[in-house]
Amino acid sequence: MPLDPQQWQQIKSDLRTQVGAEAFESWIDPLDLAASSAQENQVHLHVPTAFIRDWVSRNYGDLLIAQLQAATGRELQVQWKVGVRPEGASSGGGISEKSETTPKISKTTAEALPAGQDKPVGIDAAGTPLNPRFTFETFVTGKSNEFAYAAARRIAEDDSVTYNPFILHGGVGLGKTHLMHAIAWSIRTRKPDSVVLYMSAEKFLYSFVRALRDKSVMAFKDSFRAVDVLMIDDVQFIAGKEATQEEFFHTFNALVDLGKQIVLTADKSPHEMDNLEARLKSRLGMGLASEVHKPDLEMRLAILEKKAAEMGLNLPGDVAMLLADRVSSNVRELEGALNRLHAHTRLVGAPVKVETARDILQDLFRAYDRVVTVEEIQRKVAEFYRIKFADMHGNSRARAVARPRQMAMFLAKKLTTHSYPEIARHFGGRDHTTVMHGIRTIEKLVKDDRKLEEDARILESLLTSN
Ligand code: ADP
Ligand code: MG
Repeated sequence: MPLDPQQWQQIKSDLRTQVGAEAFESWIDPLDLAASSAQENQVHLHVPTAFIRDWVSRNYGDLLIAQLQAATGRELQVQWKVGVRPEGASSGGGISEKSETTPKISKTTAEALPAGQDKPVGIDAAGTPLNPRFTFETFVTGKSNEFAYAAARRIAEDDSVTYNPFILHGGVGLGKTHLMHAIAWSIRTRKPDSVVLYMSAEKFLYSFVRALRDKSVMAFKDSFRAVDVLMIDDVQFIAGKEATQEEFFHTFNALVDLGKQIVLTADKSPHEMDNLEARLKSRLGMGLASEVHKPDLEMRLAILEKKAAEMGLNLPGDVAMLLADRVSSNVRELEGALNRLHAHTRLVGAPVKVETARDILQDLFRAYDRVVTVEEIQRKVAEFYRIKFADMHGNSRARAVARPRQMAMFLAKKLTTHSYPEIARHFGGRDHTTVMHGIRTIEKLVKDDRKLEEDARILESLLTSN
C-alpha cells in the first residue's frame, strides 16, 4: 500500500489548513482511504457520491495530488470508489459530527439507510436523509389526497419543470413529508445521477445562521446551486425569520432561473402564510400548490388495513372501525394507535378485542374529543362565508366580515375549552369583552334568524365530524 492511514490523516489535516474548515468539511472530510489500494502508483479513495468526487476533482484535484506527492515522494493516481464508506472505515470522525455549515450534497444518504430504519445513523450529508418507508407504493390514496398524489407523481416523472415550485400543504400528519420523499425516491430511481437535496426548513435555517456566523454565505449559496431538485420541508419555519427568508428567496430565484425543480411543503398555502414577505409569497404563488386534506372514514379504514398488513398485524374489523372512527384527523396518530395495538397483540399472542382496544387507546381517544382548534374554526368559518382568513384578525366592522368573526368566536367558545381572553388572543388580540359581546350577539341572533342558526349548525358539524 503506497499510503498508510496515518499519512492520509496528515494529508487531510494539511488540506484542512489549505482549503479552510468549511470547504474541508464539505468536500475533503467525506473522503476516506480505501483499504484495497493495491497498486504502488495508485491510491484508492472512498467518496460518498459521484457529485462530491467530481467537485473534488475539479476544485481540489491538483491540491490533492500535490499533497499525496509530498507525503509519499511519488506521483500517485487517485482511484475513486463511489459509495458509502464501509462501516468502521471512518478514519477521521464521522461526517455527522462535523460542522453543518454547508449543506453537503449527497445522493447516497438514502442508500446508507438500512431499510425500515427511520432515524439514520452515520452519514448525514445532504441536509436530512430520506425515509425508506415513504414511497409512492406505500402511500394510500383517496378523495382527500388524490390530487396531491397525482401532482406529486407528475413532478417525479416529468422532467419539464412545468410546475415550479410545487408546494404540498395541509395539516399535521397528513402525508406531506411522505409524498415529498416519494418524489425524491422516484427521481433518484429514474435518474440516479440527478442531485436531489432534501432538507427540513429548520435545518436550512440552522445552516444559514451558521454560515452567517462563519462568514461562509457564498459557499452556502453555491452548494445549493449545484442541486437539480431542491426540497424543503415545512417552510412555514422560515416565515417570520427575515434574513433567512431573504436568503431563501435569492436561492430560490437562482434555482428557478436555472430551471431546477423546487418542491416545498408547508402547513398552509402560500397566500395564507402570515409573516411571509410579499414578494416571496407571490413568487411561491407562481407554482402549483396542492393540498392534502384529512382522510375520510373510508380512507382511514384503507390506511389502517394497509398498515396493519405491512406490520403483519391481525386487525379485527370492529377494532379497525373503532380506530378509524375515533382517530379522525391525523394519519400519524392512526399509525401510533396501530403500533400500540401491535405491541399488545404480540404480548398477548391473540388479536386484540374491541373492549381491550378501547382501554389501550383511552388516552388517545380522550385527547381527540377536544381536538378542534380555534384556528381550524376560524379557517372553516372564513371558508364558509367566503371571507379571508386574515379578516378573523382584522379590524373591519363591516357586517360581512364582523358577523363571521363573531360566529367563529361563538364556535370557539362552544367547541374548545379556551377562556375568553385566550380566544381573544386568537382574534388579533382583541379585548376579551369584545369576544364576550360577539358570542352573545350570535347567541341572541340564532334564536330568530333561521339562516344563521342553520349556519351555526352546519359549521359545528363540519368541525366536529372530521
Ligand atoms: P406531514 O408531513 O404531513 O406532517 P407525514 O408525511 O410525516 O405527515 O405523515 C405522517 C405519517 O403518516 C407517516 O408515517 C406517513 O407514512 C403516514 N401517512 C400519511 N398519509 C398517508 C397515506 N395517505 N398513506 C400512507 N401513509 C400515510
Ligand atoms: Mg412533515
